[in-house]
Order: sequence, then C-alpha cells, then structure tokens
Amino acid sequence: MSPSANSNNVPILDLQAQYEQIGPQLEEKVLSVLRSGHYILGKLGQTLEEELAALSGVKRGVGVANGTDALVLALWAADIGPEDEVITPSFTFAATAEAIALRGAKPIFVEVDPLTFNINPALIEAAITHKTKAIVPVHLYGQPADMDPILEIADRYNLIVIEDNAQAIGATYKGKPTGSFGDMACISFYPTKNLGAAGDAGMIVTKHDRYAERLKALRAHGSKVRYYHDELGVNSRLDEIQAAVLLTKLPHLRRWNEQRNQIAKWYAQGLKNTPGITIPTVAAANTHVWHQYTIRVHAQQNPGDKTLFRDQLIKELANRGIGSMCYYPVPLHMQAAFAHFGCKAGDLPLSETLAQEVVSLPMYPELKEHQVNQVAKAIQEIMTERLISTSTVAPVLTGF
Ligand SMILES: *Cc1c(COP(=O)(O)O)cnc(C)c1O
Repeated sequence: MSPSANSNNVPILDLQAQYEQIGPQLEEKVLSVLRSGHYILGKLGQTLEEELAALSGVKRGVGVANGTDALVLALWAADIGPEDEVITPSFTFAATAEAIALRGAKPIFVEVDPLTFNINPALIEAAITHKTKAIVPVHLYGQPADMDPILEIADRYNLIVIEDNAQAIGATYKGKPTGSFGDMACISFYPTKNLGAAGDAGMIVTKHDRYAERLKALRAHGSKVRYYHDELGVNSRLDEIQAAVLLTKLPHLRRWNEQRNQIAKWYAQGLKNTPGITIPTVAAANTHVWHQYTIRVHAQQNPGDKTLFRDQLIKELANRGIGSMCYYPVPLHMQAAFAHFGCKAGDLPLSETLAQEVVSLPMYPELKEHQVNQVAKAIQEIMTERLISTSTVAPVLTGF
C-alpha cells in the first residue's frame, strides 16, 4: 500500500497517509491504555458508544468486535432466527446476508436501484411473505438507501429495520444521519472504512433501550450480572485500544468526509466527457460520504474473448500505476455460500450487470487534485482508445 519508488503511482487506498497526520496523538492515546492496565469494557469504549450514538442521532451504542458481529447480534437481539425471512440487497458485501444466514434465517434478495445501487424500495413489498421479519438496507459506498418508503413498508407490515451502516457513517438522508432510521444500525470500524480502527471493531446504535440492554448481554455471554447467565451469548467486545484509536480519529471524520466529497467533485469534473462509463449519482435526498467512488464501465464483454471491459480497465490502470478494485464481482444470490437458499443467476439482472460493470477508483482523504486528474485522464485515454478500437461499445444502458 505504501507509495513505491514511482511517484506517479496512485494507490487505491493509503492508510499510512492518515497515520502521518495524527501519529503522535494516536501513539500517546494508545500508550495510555497500555499503561492503564484496563483493556476491555472500560471508559474509552463507553465514551465511544456515546459519541457514535450521538453522531447517529440516537440514544445508545453498543461496541462489539466487528461489523459482522454487529449485524449478527442486532438480528439476534430482534429475535430473528430459523423460519424467519429477512429482506436485503444482493449487491453488497457478503457479511450483510451472511449475518442473516448465521442466525438460521433466510435472506431474501431484492434488486437495487439503478442510480444509487441501494435496495429498490418499490420492489420490497412483492418479496414480503408471512415469514418476513425484517429489512436490512445497506447504505452502499457511502450513500444512504431511500429510507422513507422502506420505513413506511416496515411500519405497515410490522417489520424490524436494521441499517447496515458499515460504509456511510456521517452521511445524511433528508437531513438526518444514517443510523437514525432503523430500529438498530450496524457500524464497522474495519481499518479501510471512513472511520477505521487499527484492527477489527464494530458497533450497534439504537434508539431503543431494550435492544441496547439485550445487546450488552449478548456480547458478554448472555450475562447482565457477571457470572449469572440469563441466556447464551458470545464474546464480542470492542477493546480499549481500538476505542482509543477511534476516539482520536473521530474529531477528524467530518473533515475527512468533506475531503472525500471534494475528491468526488474532481473526479466528476475530470470524467465528465469520458465515453462508455457512468459516474456516480447522488440522490437529491442524500449527502454522500464516498466510502467508494464507483463508476460503471458499459459494454460488459469484449465480443471476441468475453473479457469484461471493466476488468480490462482495471488491468490497464494497474499498468499505469493506478489502483482500482471491483466491489463486488459476484452478487450474493449467485455465491456458492447462499446457493442452498434456492437463489441463482438470472434472478436479479441489474445486480448481475452491476457486478460486471462497477469499478471503484482511488479514494482517501489525502488524495491530491493532480492525482485525481491523473486517474481521470488515464480513464479518458483508455476508454477513448477502446471506442476507436471496437465498433461495439454499447450505448449507455438506459433500461436499467
Ligand atoms: C465492512 C462491511 C461489513 C462487515 O464489517 P466487518 O467489520 O468487516 O466485519 C458489513 N457490511 C458492509 C456493507 C461492509 O462494508
């Protein structure tokens, strides 16, 4: 990840650049934890819970070991288990549906919106059965899902809503923060997320005291009073060293998200006349925190050898020292791990198309304007070259 000898390289991510900004404060805070002898469920973790709840516009936060555990425990606290169905998008990171399956429930995959790539509320109702217990929308890439219609449906069918807010801390929908809409919301502090720990950490935030209390027990072996176990639980805690790292970074989050937004504007400017791609759209109701800057590369396959144009672009960018990545190449309804739920290729055409077309470009707050321009220029050149060399660059797919 460190910039190599070639100063023209643009990595997709640079965590060291962030460390260089706040190194001394981080080290001091972490050292103070080491010296304190208090490593688990202490004051820093509690402060972090309060801060993240406030940032999410709700009362309570419960720190856990990672974002995946946050999802599993939130579903558990809502008593979701075998025989239950949970509606969620297929075009997301595996953990979203994995958590549902790990609870013994069945994920019901619903198609996404063509502009935001988030679950399409208009298609949720048709997926509801008498077994449906919850909806888990994902705020993908840092952009909020369309929450009002989701909450309206949930209200009408008496469903629980758990936001997967792993990627969109600090984003807003109609002026309110992500994490404030559902019964619970799950946060990941995986190091590459907009607010990242120096290791694994996660949190559930909620407006409901009863869920917060249940979650606190579930993360500690089902115990409210030490060594008295009301139910089974797990060991899933956010330790004091991670809390120290996160509390040191938290005051910078707003500025970092603003810098990401500036970078997104530079990309939009630099890429605007590029043939064969679509740049991201921000829905009018939303502010976006740009966990990823993700474009679509149209004309999925080279007619000759069937290689994806997207994959060719990734390769050609790499040849120029530019990092890029596809999140995510296989939608969950086509993954082997979920095949036993009876879902298969062809079920969700838009999710399948997106998985073949999306590519995320370098995005981190320290990225410089000239680097963004360098990436944009490279994409311009590669796509223009392709336009000339192939007669079959597809028109922008307006059908989706
Ligand atoms: C990162 C992520 C998770 C899981 O978080 P971990 O902390 O890595 O367990 C869940 N859902 C989404 C959408 C994510 O991006």
